[in-house]
Amino acid sequence: MTRSIDLLDPSTEVVIETVPLISVEETDAAVNRAVSAQRDWAELAPADRARLLRRFAAAVDGDLENLARLEVRNAGHTIGNARWEAGNVRDVLNYFSAAPERLSGRQIPVAGGVDLTFKEPIGVVGVIVPWNFPMPIAGWGFAPALAAGNAVLLKPAELTPLTALRLAELALEAGLPEYVFQVLPGAGPVVGTRFVSHPQVRKVVFTGSTRVGKEILRGCAEQIKRVTLELGGKNANIVFADADLERAAASAPGAVFDNSGQDCCARSRILVQRSVYDRFMALLEPAVAAVRVGDPSDPSTDMGPLISAAHRDKVNSYLSGNGAVAFRGSVPDGPGYWVAPTVLAPGQLDSPAWREEIFGPVVGVVPFEDEAEAVALANDTEYGLSGSIWTENVGRALRVSRAVQAGNLSVNSHSSVRYSTPFGGFKQSGLGRELGPDAVDSFTETKNVFISTGE
Ligand code: NAD
Repeated sequence: MTRSIDLLDPSTEVVIETVPLISVEETDAAVNRAVSAQRDWAELAPADRARLLRRFAAAVDGDLENLARLEVRNAGHTIGNARWEAGNVRDVLNYFSAAPERLSGRQIPVAGGVDLTFKEPIGVVGVIVPWNFPMPIAGWGFAPALAAGNAVLLKPAELTPLTALRLAELALEAGLPEYVFQVLPGAGPVVGTRFVSHPQVRKVVFTGSTRVGKEILRGCAEQIKRVTLELGGKNANIVFADADLERAAASAPGAVFDNSGQDCCARSRILVQRSVYDRFMALLEPAVAAVRVGDPSDPSTDMGPLISAAHRDKVNSYLSGNGAVAFRGSVPDGPGYWVAPTVLAPGQLDSPAWREEIFGPVVGVVPFEDEAEAVALANDTEYGLSGSIWTENVGRALRVSRAVQAGNLSVNSHSSVRYSTPFGGFKQSGLGRELGPDAVDSFTETKNVFISTGE
């Protein structure tokens, strides 16, 4: 079995570091350490837990540039994105640092006594993270889990462990007790699978492919283990004839090509009302040509490389022999896992490129006649994560928002993620919600206690 992995800079293909991969035995030892650390962590005064989370946030803030540069080298993210990602970890920690002192139960009126509920921590939580947004996705799991009094084991993706390992150091520097937050770089089928099978890991938070998500759900069923799943997406960007077409077209490339399309929320299907289809395409073409693809450490770059050679080849497999390419952007010469921003039009409704999550800089465009057809096309997918609706008609904006089966919609914009609002998928895009005011609840068990006042 491989005991280490060479990490490559995706923009140069040069090895930047070799990281050991941990074994099942080492995972078990980490679980044992977490079990005892969790008891003390949960008993800490709420204000002290809150203070430590704020100190962790401050440590992340102090290291923001270093974390961002690590992600540029390890994942090929643009420096602008990587700074946002590190800042998001800080913000999510600060947001959930308010939770320990607000984890109130209820007092419920009953006969013969007093009834109280408590929000108890679950215990040890395993967080499994993909390579596309290593920092934010980790934070969305570990911050609320820690706030609720759980210990966290974090397994980064094989290809992108560096920022997670640095976050573990920062947690210790900030004063978090040892073993409350452990980062375990390792293979999914080794460490991730052990989170699922180990009886002392009481909850698994998984973000990744729908295929692996189903395996995790099946595995967790064995022990009725708590589980949150954030899975794939094939999201629609619906442009009505009454929209501000200039803004809709100017923003469409960013909505799908950001992070080189390696984004579960990428708006990879553009639906355009037929009466404005030609005009929209005429506006889209220069916007795609203007996407600057290149050195991710250059602040003027819009799009970097893909994560790996294997992933580049997978993305290209959706394009080979596809006669529907309407236009493409450009890529740099030389090493690096590049794929040019690509627009397929008209998208073929039965093609894999239209139906499957490509997770690369490829977008299909399809015309529709009316609102009903737009909604039907948007919902014609097993996924339901995000989407956008462009219209100047507020009634239509609300009707379509209610009709599209997806967890995160935006009107006249493409935002999906705010740490203070819930995030998650309908249908096969996931189970449960992260972020927002209720996320901490999914890291607690409600305990009901009745106290008799009878003599
Ligand atoms: P992946 O499913 O291959 O891997 C994700 C993580 O699971 C990795 O850490 C991997 O090591 C681990 N893993 C793999 N096999 C496992 C197993 N059998 N048991 C336990 N863990 C296992 O996904 P990926 O290719 O790294 O990431 C891309 C996918 O993630 C895309 O489908 C994307 O849509 C999805 N994603 C979803 C969201 C969301 O919030 N909904 C966000 C980002 C990415």
